[in-house]
Amino acid sequence: MSARIIDGKAVAAALRTRLAERVAALSFRPGLVVVLVGDDPASAVYVRSKDRAANAAGIAACTIRLPTETSEEVLITQIDRLNADPTVDGILVQFPLPPHVSSQVVIEAVDPDKDVDGFHPLNVGRLVAGHPGLVPCTPAGVMKLIAAANASLDGARALVLGRSTIVGRPMAALLLAANATVTTAHTRTRDLPAECRRADIIVAAAGRPELVRGDWIAPGATVIDVGMNRLPDGRLVGDVAFAEAIQVAGAITPVPGGVGPMTIACLLENTVAAALRRRLGG
Ligand code: NAP
Repeated sequence: MSARIIDGKAVAAALRTRLAERVAALSFRPGLVVVLVGDDPASAVYVRSKDRAANAAGIAACTIRLPTETSEEVLITQIDRLNADPTVDGILVQFPLPPHVSSQVVIEAVDPDKDVDGFHPLNVGRLVAGHPGLVPCTPAGVMKLIAAANASLDGARALVLGRSTIVGRPMAALLLAANATVTTAHTRTRDLPAECRRADIIVAAAGRPELVRGDWIAPGATVIDVGMNRLPDGRLVGDVAFAEAIQVAGAITPVPGGVGPMTIACLLENTVAAALRRRLGG
């Protein structure tokens, strides 16, 4: 048996087209501001692609670039200004921040209604409580890929590998809200292979190249690989040993071309949702 490959690029492109159509029908342009502190090359690449994708969808996006030595106080003043600006619907502060700036202080400074990353404690609380709010982009994208694979979550056993605040924890909350029976695994989990084998759906977000082997996967399971790991030889691989897993799984995302493209598409969706809620109460 060979698994069906879930084409994240195609699912993301379809979402971006739908969003562009939706934005074109609005009487205003939703606004997104990305704040980049410092000159981390990877962050600069991410920020450029977010900016480009947003503008292509009709969102008025721009990036504020601040030097590495920017103080926490100056950064917060900048965020306060964006919070007060009625043309700004979404604010995204690119992480990582320089070590002298507290990420948590910055996260909590963003107006929760403009928090398109879904990291503000109010949005985290809403998600955990099962109330509507802005949801972190990567887990939101994973949910869309599971839907694209036609995998039923109701009563399914889901295994989330990883418990970070940006992927694992919100992922588990979303799967639970969709009525899956959720297990969250981490470095202290005993017998990870056995936990994986019991799962109908595996979402791997450990940041460990090819950790999940083919014989950890139940035949026919849906496997979503969030991992993005650069090997010394330059290859980009996920957290799942793809060549082994594809022999066993029912459906699987590739790396690259799986979860990655969904993250930016969901950022655009969050920006449009934030704009509609703020401006139209929708
Ligand atoms: P992270 O903050 O480093 O968290 C990794 C989690 O995995 C931790 O909870 C850790 O457990 C767990 N873990 C690590 N090694 C493990 C092992 N051998 N066995 C069991 N659990 C293990 O990483 P993250 O930010 O969530 O990102 C995870 C991966 O997703 C990375 O490869 C990242 O590049 C990728 N990512 C991709 C996208 C995208 O758009 N495609 C977006 C975000 C992240 P402990 O808590 O016990 O330490």
